[in-house]
Amino acid sequence: MISVEEALEKILSYAEVLEPEEKPILDCLGQVLAEDIYSTIDIPPLDNSAMDGYAVQAEDTRGASRSSPKNLTVVGEIAAGSMPTGEVMPGTAIRIMTGALLPEGADAVVQFEDTDEVARKASLELSLDSCQLREIGILRQARSGLNVRYRGEDIAKGTLVLRNGTILRPAEIGVLASLGHSEARVIRRPVVSVLATGDELVDIDQPLPPGKIHNSNTYTIAAEVLRYGGIPKILGIGRDSVQSLSEKIDEGLDSDMLITSGGVSRGDYDIVKDVLAKRGEIALWTVCMKPGKPSAFGVIRSGGRKVPHLGLPGNPVSSMVTFEQFARPAILKMMGKTNFTKPSVQAIIEDDVKNTDGRRLFARVIITKRNRQYYARLTGPQGSGILTSMAKANGLAIIPENAKRVKAGDIVQVQMLDWEEPPLSEAV
Ligand code: AMP
Ligand code: MG
Repeated sequence: MISVEEALEKILSYAEVLEPEEKPILDCLGQVLAEDIYSTIDIPPLDNSAMDGYAVQAEDTRGASRSSPKNLTVVGEIAAGSMPTGEVMPGTAIRIMTGALLPEGADAVVQFEDTDEVARKASLELSLDSCQLREIGILRQARSGLNVRYRGEDIAKGTLVLRNGTILRPAEIGVLASLGHSEARVIRRPVVSVLATGDELVDIDQPLPPGKIHNSNTYTIAAEVLRYGGIPKILGIGRDSVQSLSEKIDEGLDSDMLITSGGVSRGDYDIVKDVLAKRGEIALWTVCMKPGKPSAFGVIRSGGRKVPHLGLPGNPVSSMVTFEQFARPAILKMMGKTNFTKPSVQAIIEDDVKNTDGRRLFARVIITKRNRQYYARLTGPQGSGILTSMAKANGLAIIPENAKRVKAGDIVQVQMLDWEEPPLSEAV
């Protein structure tokens, strides 16, 4: 039995960063940029207004206040997207909209709220949306540069904007769009074949004869692959014979990784290891963890290639917990990512937990935050077949190998399964 860390190191040593692909920016969400992006333009391209208001010469507003407004002659109006026609000379102002180009002569924009536009229109009985004022009162002194967005202040032409290796989140996709890139070069997503094994399994759209169960692992595993950025290729169900399994595995050898579930423990029909030994090599089998001990990993030879194969245990909780520890980092690495640690918190555990057999225990917990302190409560029965314990959980409390028991009130480390979703309610 090897430690979780040793197993992970071994698995990662076989996971290679994949090659780049070029595709539309929106399809790149969550992928790693495989090129440096330099800007060929200034953003914003020209000086423009950050507010709706009046473009002025700041000097003309000196000493302006509500009790002593400075009146300026309005010589025009400019909307976003159009070119200014006039120039702001001393003693004049041009009405301007947010994003509109700053006219010649102006060096500041006074927002509407700091002018008497509304009051003046009311007294002249002009409609509020008209802009026919000939004069405007400025109610506040403006410094030069007020409410002006300068050419290139966000991105200057020629600068390195996004570095090779950057993960593309919505903000980076927006930056690419603002630079006028419709496509980007990113490390491609891994295709991960997902194969369930077991004579007891039936497809989810089939009736359940006595002694059979639905194949749920394929769906949890494929959903996890999707969640972490891979492309699942579903191979269906392999039966508990070397031949059936071998045939199914053949269908998955064009992918970047093969994940099987079941067939890796010591039972007579646990033949995944046999197939792995025959068609490739076993790099590891059995990890010092609970659930998930009978995990296997190796490579299957296919022509000149070696396809990494992760053999997860069949129990639904075991396969999910081992997926999180081993498959997720492998997928992230293949995608060019470098941080594989799951976010974790220190929490006060609210139940006693026993851990008598010296393995690292991943207990399913519900994490809540009260008074700036995290608390972890067990989801209920912790059997590795109880998949609803994962459905209820938002974290995995890690009970160390050498801790025979933790008591309610002790501090534990908890790997977060979800940050995005709020903690689950009592009713679940
Ligand atoms: P195994 O690792 O093949 O011995 O399977 C351990 C347990 O997990 C058995 O109770 C199986 O019925 C169950 N199991 C295996 N594969 C699946 C699957 N694809 N979906 C749901 N349960 C499974
Ligand atoms: Mg089985």
